[in-house]
Amino acid sequence: MNIQKQLIGGKWVLSSSNETREIINPFNQEIIAEVAEGNAEDAKQAIQAAREAFDKGEWSRTLATERGKLVRKIASLIERDKEELARLESLDTGKTVDESRDDMDGIADVFHYYADLAGKNKGEMIDSPIPNTISKIVREPVGVCAQITPWNYPLLQASWKLAPALAAGNTLVMKPSEITPLTTIKVFELMEEAGIPAGVTNLVLGAGSSVGDELSKNTAVDLISFTGGIETGKKVMQAASSNVKKLALELGGKNPNIIFADADFETAVDQAMNGVFFHAGQICSAGARLIVEESIHDKFVDALVKRVRNIKLGSGFDQNTEMGPLISAEHLEKVANYVETGLKEGAKLAVGGGKPEDAALKDGFFYLPTVLVDCTTDMDVVQHEGFGPVITVEKFSTEEKAIHLANDSVYGLSGGVWTEDIAKAERCAAQMRMGTVWINDFNVFFAQAPWGGYKQSGIGHELGTKGLEEYTETKHIYHNIDPQPMNWFGKN
Ligand code: NAD
Repeated sequence: MNIQKQLIGGKWVLSSSNETREIINPFNQEIIAEVAEGNAEDAKQAIQAAREAFDKGEWSRTLATERGKLVRKIASLIERDKEELARLESLDTGKTVDESRDDMDGIADVFHYYADLAGKNKGEMIDSPIPNTISKIVREPVGVCAQITPWNYPLLQASWKLAPALAAGNTLVMKPSEITPLTTIKVFELMEEAGIPAGVTNLVLGAGSSVGDELSKNTAVDLISFTGGIETGKKVMQAASSNVKKLALELGGKNPNIIFADADFETAVDQAMNGVFFHAGQICSAGARLIVEESIHDKFVDALVKRVRNIKLGSGFDQNTEMGPLISAEHLEKVANYVETGLKEGAKLAVGGGKPEDAALKDGFFYLPTVLVDCTTDMDVVQHEGFGPVITVEKFSTEEKAIHLANDSVYGLSGGVWTEDIAKAERCAAQMRMGTVWINDFNVFFAQAPWGGYKQSGIGHELGTKGLEEYTETKHIYHNIDPQPMNWFGKN
């Protein structure tokens, strides 16, 4: 098996320690690739390469419209290789190929979107209050950006960082999750093919404790953009204080989905499942916390359980499969323990709650789609992100109570509200303390709208124009066109 390499300063290289890591298919535990296992030393070299490339200015001073063309070329290459990328993503993560194809479409859209914005990253003229002066604001690239991504949406999360960073004229070092680096490696090849100059995009593979830590603390890095769990995010934040880096954190969520009795019942049941079971619930914005109006609670749970029982587990490459495995044995155990905790706290199992018995799935990290009822906000299972195919169900009696429950969380990533009453929907959306609120929908995101968390779900934004702003510094340039002596000091 060929060892897949890292990209440092325009060269594809092994790790300086020569160590490698095997990448496992979570459906059957087969080894699907062997990749270089980078370390802190490799990260330092990549940062130096990105630093030199930025300071030389070739990329940051390239006309923004030209940068936009290259970013668009990357989008076209992703479209050209969509099937191969989707296949790789499913092999690496276990998700269904249809889900991976959707991811690839979204990823190409993100590159197209920032290709368009690259040439529109305009500044602003200020009405100066001082006569005979010109005052203007310009946006400039931040410099060397370190980017760390998680395993659940490997290439999607990478695209949200790569496209705006390049469009704005930065150089970068990316570290994908050590479990799922394959599509990211492939896109670094595509960026090279598109003509991004050597040293502008650097890729270091390896563990968070070595490579990730170096990227977070190295003082030659100007900005760190991290997507992952809260606890890791806190470490990154601490390490980033070494040189007061610009910081963007996209962290976890435990996202409430409020269902009022006047919602379209069938659609709400169907979408409650879409909200949580894609990629076996391993989604930061999963609607894993259902909050259902008392008067329809029992009917809603019955309808939900009936459908959840029918979800087909299997290989992501089987057209009949609706849900694939979890990412790893370790994560499977975490999800199983999470459900156990809920049951000990008094939640009741309505369906699922274990590994499937199907012999065909015995080598995969599968967990049954699970619904826990009789849940209350004080339970750990409601407060913590499970990151698996598990829904907790709570009840509410009034609109005020529903909003209170939804907001009773350290997280604030996203949430949903289902009702046919437009005014009620708007009242709820206005009061829900989350970065994204969906009304009569769930888990929808696109390149044009910003994505970010309130509270401990993060700092800053990806996507939209705000996602580009993260990768720019704001400079005020003041020009006195009629300079005169002030004669303030030492006149006599
Ligand atoms: P994680 O925090 O374990 O790892 C994320 C990345 O950080 C990986 O690349 C890992 O190697 C690296 N890392 C680990 N230790 C590090 C350290 N000390 N310093 C620097 N980097 C380090 O998260 P995960 O398990 O890969 O991903 C799941 C989490 O990501 C969930 O909490 C999920 O909600 C969150 N997530 C959030 C969003 C969002 O948009 N808000 C999107 C996807 C995933």
